[in-house]
Amino acid sequence: MRHLGGGYQVDGHQDAYIDHAPRALRRFTELGVPFQLVRGLPDHYHGHAPGSRSEGRMVETALISGEDLGEWQHKVLVSPELPMGVTFEEAIAWGGIGNARNFDPELMAERCAKDLRGFGSGLAANLIKLLVDRNVPIELEAPVLDLVREGGRVSGVVLGGPGGERRVRARRGVVLAGGGYESNPELVDRFEDITGWTSMFPDSLTGDPLLMATELGAGLHVIRRHMAVFLGFPVPGEGADAKPFLRLAGIQELSKPHTLVVNQRGARFADESYFQSMLDALRDFDVWAHTYRNQPCFLIFDGSYTEHYSFGGYEIGVVPEWVQRADSLDELAAALGSTRPAWSPPSIG
Ligand SMILES: Cc1cc2nc3c(=O)[nH]c(=O)nc-3n(C[C@H](O)[C@H](O)[C@H](O)COP(=O)(O)OP(=O)(O)OC[C@H]3O[C@@H](n4cnc5c(N)ncnc54)[C@H](O)[C@@H]3O)c2cc1C
Repeated sequence: MRHLGGGYQVDGHQDAYIDHAPRALRRFTELGVPFQLVRGLPDHYHGHAPGSRSEGRMVETALISGEDLGEWQHKVLVSPELPMGVTFEEAIAWGGIGNARNFDPELMAERCAKDLRGFGSGLAANLIKLLVDRNVPIELEAPVLDLVREGGRVSGVVLGGPGGERRVRARRGVVLAGGGYESNPELVDRFEDITGWTSMFPDSLTGDPLLMATELGAGLHVIRRHMAVFLGFPVPGEGADAKPFLRLAGIQELSKPHTLVVNQRGARFADESYFQSMLDALRDFDVWAHTYRNQPCFLIFDGSYTEHYSFGGYEIGVVPEWVQRADSLDELAAALGSTRPAWSPPSIG
């Protein structure tokens, strides 16, 4: 873990994680969440870290059917980025999610018909099922507006929503389960060394729970040079009311063969196949030009890519009209607004 912290880990946080993670895992397992080991992790998944083991570093839940959630089946969303009906372990064994065309289509169709869910969507569905089975009320459209404090402790929350404000008392405590702040531009500006941020995440990731905790005096610790920034591109919505969405290219287009990413000068600047390896380069600031060297950047591909893999979630072979295209690199550079008029092929190794 120290190795992975890259010099930025805090011993106390690390120790707390090591002490509490197994207890949390055991507790959820006892409550009925079917955790299982992910075996066969590829070596690039930190397999070379000192003390790393090939098994036991990652767990996932068994597939769960959305039908088990009753009326919550369609309220618990599934990820648009990852295939349905497949476990992480299977996806690795079958050649990775980039090779979904190798998955057995009949098996996948059968599993999708049963609304089987894995990955994070499977974990979320399993946790909701715990609540549904125990008749624990789940409130939607009821944001926590504030924490109620009494006698030096938090004794409840103030809920908002269409019905107006109301207080809910908590006898044993309030759990703030919300670390994400990707849709709060102010927090992103403050905590991330990156400009031009657009959230690919649900609008509800406002970071409110973090703010509420700091108001009580909790300390926030920003993990420097963390690797959780994703690269993506906007896909226009289809139909009159459709909203554009941001495609998470880091685990899709970039990790597959026959794509590369160049900066405005047409130069490749990192290993696209592992999106985390691009992040330092994205923050690279040219002090003389006073611009970021590698922002904006452009995803480049040709027919060798589209023949085999999906672009932007479209069917294999389909490249929508809004994608800039050209018959030569010069024309493509001009179309994309490259700052290097006399294009010569970049040295891409
Ligand atoms: C594409 C992707 C891949 C990832 N892959 C992995 C992985 O493989 N392994 C891994 O461990 N992690 C992974 N992560 C990270 C992981 O998903 C997050 O770390 C985790 O979801 C954070 O959980 P959280 O409980 O802190 O809450 P969050 O998921 O941040 O959720 C915050 C919640 O709080 C709610 N909320 C906000 N404000 C209020 C309010 N005022 N009142 C009520 N509710 C509020 C929001 O609606 C939201 O539901 C991935 C993340 C992404 C985006």
